Amino acid sequence: MPHAEIAHAGMLKSRTMKMKSHPDSLQRFLFEQSNVRGELVHLDDAWREVLKRHDYPPALRTVMGELMAGAVLLAATLKLKGSLILQIQGQGPVTLLVVECDGELNVRATAKWQGELEGISFAQMVGDGRFVITLDPRDGGQTYQGIVEVDGDSVAEVLQNYMQRSEQLATRLWLAADEQGAAGMLLQKMPGDGGHAITEQDDGQDDDMWQRVTILTDTLQREELLGLPAEVLIRRLYGEEDVRLFDTQHVAFRCSCSRERVARMLKMLGRDEVQSVLDEQGRAEVICEFCNHHYHFDKVDAEQVFAAEVLLDGSASVH
Ligand SMILES: [Zn+2]
Repeated sequence: MPHAEIAHAGMLKSRTMKMKSHPDSLQRFLFEQSNVRGELVHLDDAWREVLKRHDYPPALRTVMGELMAGAVLLAATLKLKGSLILQIQGQGPVTLLVVECDGELNVRATAKWQGELEGISFAQMVGDGRFVITLDPRDGGQTYQGIVEVDGDSVAEVLQNYMQRSEQLATRLWLAADEQGAAGMLLQKMPGDGGHAITEQDDGQDDDMWQRVTILTDTLQREELLGLPAEVLIRRLYGEEDVRLFDTQHVAFRCSCSRERVARMLKMLGRDEVQSVLDEQGRAEVICEFCNHHYHFDKVDAEQVFAAEVLLDGSASVH
């Protein structure tokens, strides 16, 4: 009995040591005396929650995991209150990839595709698609939307080309995903003064730093990005540099759908439309594409949806 216990404890210990120190987390860092900052994200449960809900083909999973890691990295750079939505609207077998991440780093994702995806490149998957970035402040403020052609042979390239061309921010991303996790690294050269008055000399130093750390990060292996804890990875890559680490932030899978939202959507469809579905099928079923939750409305429920005009309008008028 004591033997078994010791053996068991030993196994637990070695398992724990292999685990990441902070699963589902975002680590921000910056290179001291420069305007270069970085972020490293690891998605574990948050990613597996997405995979659990739909049977995505393996090739699509990689691309989705990368877009999910990329969305969290960009959302974190923006420090936004509302949510950031990244969409790739494809013209190839993958017709849609959507990831939404809010300011608390709650993230959700979904995709639409048809046909065979194995053995084809990212560019072939999405064809001449569009990349749409939406910033929804969710406080009644102006929604921002940028739409560009999908430009790049990988999710990382699409995102960094967008940041470079549309936002004029020198940004590099390294993204990876497998069955167990998705991970990403972002480096960004901030414009202007990073807290200190900018001189030509500083700018030259920042350029040198930017060059050096991006070259170092290009040596990063996929397995390292996916498998190493953030602090270890940062130390290994930038051992010579003076790096300041900030507190980690938790990332979670969370879907913002609700019965109230679905009810509002049914109201927008209109009484006649909903009634014809009810006549045909006895009930209306709405499935959330993100979390796969099934919402059912029978005749009585539908009556309530359309009778509750005052109540629903009242809650909507807050916006
Ligand atoms: Zn949902």
